[in-house]
Order: sequence, then C-alpha cells, then structure tokens
Amino acid sequence: MDLTLVARQAVTPDGIRPVSVGVRDGRIAAVEPFETPPPSEFARWLNDDEVLLPGLVDTHVHVNDPGRAEWEGFDTATRAAARGGVTTIVDMPLNSLPPTVDLAALEVKRKAAEGRVHVDVGFWGGAVPGNLPSLRPLHDAGVFGFKCFLLDSGVPEFPPLTHFELADALRELREFDGLMIVHAEDAEVIDAAPPSCGRRYRDFLASRPRRAENEAIKAVIALARRTGARAHILHLSSADALPLIAEAKADGLPITAETCPHYLCFTAEDIPDGATQFKCCPPIREDANRDALWQGLADGVIDLVVSDHSPCTVDLKRLDTGDFGHAWGGVASLQLGLPAVWTEARRRGFDLTRVIDWMAVKPAALAGFARKGRIAVGMDADLTVFAPDQPFTVDAQELAHRNPVTPYHGRDLHGVVRTTWLRGRDVVDGPFGTLLTRGDA
Ligand SMILES: [Zn+2]
Repeated sequence: MDLTLVARQAVTPDGIRPVSVGVRDGRIAAVEPFETPPPSEFARWLNDDEVLLPGLVDTHVHVNDPGRAEWEGFDTATRAAARGGVTTIVDMPLNSLPPTVDLAALEVKRKAAEGRVHVDVGFWGGAVPGNLPSLRPLHDAGVFGFKCFLLDSGVPEFPPLTHFELADALRELREFDGLMIVHAEDAEVIDAAPPSCGRRYRDFLASRPRRAENEAIKAVIALARRTGARAHILHLSSADALPLIAEAKADGLPITAETCPHYLCFTAEDIPDGATQFKCCPPIREDANRDALWQGLADGVIDLVVSDHSPCTVDLKRLDTGDFGHAWGGVASLQLGLPAVWTEARRRGFDLTRVIDWMAVKPAALAGFARKGRIAVGMDADLTVFAPDQPFTVDAQELAHRNPVTPYHGRDLHGVVRTTWLRGRDVVDGPFGTLLTRGDA
C-alpha cells in the first residue's frame, strides 16, 4: 500500500464503522475492519475526534473562467473545494466566456483549467436556443449533461429555452440518454411579480415568488413525461413543489432534484435589509419553507445537496448600496458546504451518513461518476478527515475563493476539514486535479 488510513469512525456504504483503508496507485485497494493491524510505517492513524469521509462531490459550481476570472477562477475555486473536503466539482456552462455551448467553447474551458486544478473537474454543457446540433458532439466529448434556463439567466450570452425548445432538446437528449439540468423558474410568473428594487429583502423575495418555481417544475415534469428524457431540478427553494416531484418519482419518471446549503441554513426572516450577499435566485425563503425542505431530504424527494457556488466581484454585489435589484445574484460557499449542512443536520437529528449520501453519493450518481463518492474497494482514493464537533466562526477573508464575500461570514459552524486526499495524495501538495470526461470517471 502507498498509504493506509486507520479511523475509529469512517462513513462507509455499510454505515459508520472503524476501518483501515489501504490506498494503492490512487485507488482504494482495501477496506478492512479496524482490528486488522496495518503496517505501522505507512499507516496514518486518525485522531479520536476525526471521521474519515469520502471526498465530497459538488455538481453545481460556477467557476467563471475564462472570461470572468475576476469573479472566480479554476485555481481559487478548486483550492476552496479542496479545503472544504470537496474532491470533485462539475463546472456550470455559463458565466464563463464563451459559455460551454459548443465543442470549441469546451476546448477553451479545458485549456483554461488544465494544470491549474486542485480537485478533479468535470464540465456541464449548455442548451441554448439554436445549439441543438451541438448537444450530441458535446456529449461525445465528455460533458456530463446539459444545463438550461427557462427565464433570463442574468448573462446575455446564455439565453433561456422556450418550452418548445426544451421539448426539442429533451427529445435529442433521449436519443443518447443525456441528462438535462434545469434552472426552473417561470419567466411569465416572474414578469408578473413586482420588480426587485431597493434594500428590503422582503421586496426581493416577493419578486421571485414560489409559484415561479412551482410552475416551471410542473412544465419540466410534463415534458420529461412526454419525452422520456432524464431531467434534474437545480437549486430547489420552493418547498411547495415537493409534492409535484414526489408524484413524478412515484410515477417512475427519471426526475431528480437538488437543494443548496443556503436554503437549508438561512431564513428570509433573518436576512437583514441591504444584505445582498444573501441574494440568489431562486431566493432564500421563510423558516417554515426551510423546515419543509429538510423534510424533503429526509423523505428522499430531494436527492442531493450541492453548493451552487456562484461568486462575483465585491463591487457587483453592491454591498455599498445594498440594492437587491442591482446586485449580482449568487452565493459563494464552496468551501463551507459540509460544515454548513452538517451544523444544521446534526441539530435536526441526522447523522453523517445521511449528509454524505446527499453531498457525495447522490451527486456522484447524478453525474454518473462510477469511482467517486464512496469509501469502497476500487474507488478513487478521494478522502477527507473531518472533525465534526470542532466549532469555528466563518471569516470570509480566510476562505480560498477569489472574492471575500459570503453570507456565512461571522456564522458559528461545527465541523472542520483537516486533511483531504485526492487519489491518495494530499491536496496541499497540488495542483494535481484532472479533467474528467463522461464514461471515464
Ligand atoms: Zn447555479
């Protein structure tokens, strides 16, 4: 073995157990009961307060590089991921320039990432009006699926699909069992809502009503039903949509859904006016909605929790004026997802096995990563040492992502990531992340 880790507690597919994990050539070569004495010279014993976890998989990250690298870049984003125990990310196709909507753009993106990534990185493609002929080539080139919007995305170079265009794209994806991931807010509902302007969070919330999500999700489910294509609901915030998703799943439709740490940790009631670091779309909603989202996770209606890390520069957040109408929407949190979700989960009686299911196992399954997200023989040796009971206070200046803005600043959390290995190597010695392609990960 190149490395043997001995842990009194490890989150494995069989629950939390004492194990020794042997690593050879970057893969997990053995998972033995703790009693098996490991060869002492190569063994690293975890402390009593530490739990060995599989590296987390975050399938919703906006790196913005190239083109808007001053917002976030491959070096900083993947450093933040590594320090947060996330060993695999999948990059969103928009906010970078060009957006990843054809083969040439995918090449540009790969060149920007090559040799600069501290964790493994895969790419989503984009589905926009007019790029239907590019979907198959992007799929063949190894993207993990396609993102689309049903309303203005916030950037002009990534326009939304109409329902007709979405139906066409789903039919095309059905041909090669591709996955569509959808920003599900309805344009008409948003247009009819009062516009967002000013410092009051209540006004911003009213500008993105739950009904916008509910209607869009209804439409996505109906089109998935009609076309047979796989569809995934991104960043679910409206708990009102949970029965729709539950019903679609009960009908056997290939529908999955994710939510994000900020919808599970924060509540609209507690967001101060002018605090645009909390602005994201769909928005953070009321406390009762948050409880319902946790119930959705408990019931398995929501499959996974991923960050939707979507940073920008400090000035674009308009922290000076606090105007929600003008601030960029997006929460920066890649490094904090695990402690944020864990802090809230433990309070609600969930154990780390569930958290790892939501943040490693299920995201790996969504993207189709065969060797990620679990501590088991044959998997990549992506491993994290986590001290779940250690408290800390978030300081935005100490985080590794590019611009020191996050709504978690000043928040007291539990759980510190102490060491992370990527394919058996300590990430602090990196960057040695690789670029992943579908079918080969
Ligand atoms: Zn996003």
